[in-house]
Amino acid sequence: MSDTIFHKIIRREIPADIVYEDEHLIAFRDVAPQAPVHVLFVPKETIPTLDDLQPSQAELAGRLMLAAANHAREQGLAEDGYRVVMNCNADGGQTVFQMHLHLLAGAPLGSFGVRK
Ligand code: AMP
Repeated sequence: MSDTIFHKIIRREIPADIVYEDEHLIAFRDVAPQAPVHVLFVPKETIPTLDDLQPSQAELAGRLMLAAANHAREQGLAEDGYRVVMNCNADGGQTVFQMHLHLLAGAPLGSFGVRK
């Protein structure tokens, strides 16, 4: 379970529309966007879910947030606003078990919560 499609993207074994990368994380466009802008920020270190995040990895979690905020600002999205989401396990809607942060932007996003 630890090797996911996101690990394959990190290793360049499958293609992705990569918008940012550094030694800690990679960011690429979601293949099934839920908003005009939908980018995923993924740590390179294996962390299956937010529930697996350790206190020693707090800086990495912060890097994901900052990378998303920087991307939104650079793309001129910050003033209008955006949403960041991290799904955890089944009820959270997680489908890829390498922790990742969704950046959604480009239109008013409305409310969210329990699926009707
Ligand atoms: P989650 O449901 O929070 O685990 O989010 C997984 C996201 O990964 C979904 O929004 C998918 O559309 C997206 N996704 C799955 N496979 C790929 C891929 N090969 N390239 C880009 N995004 C993907």
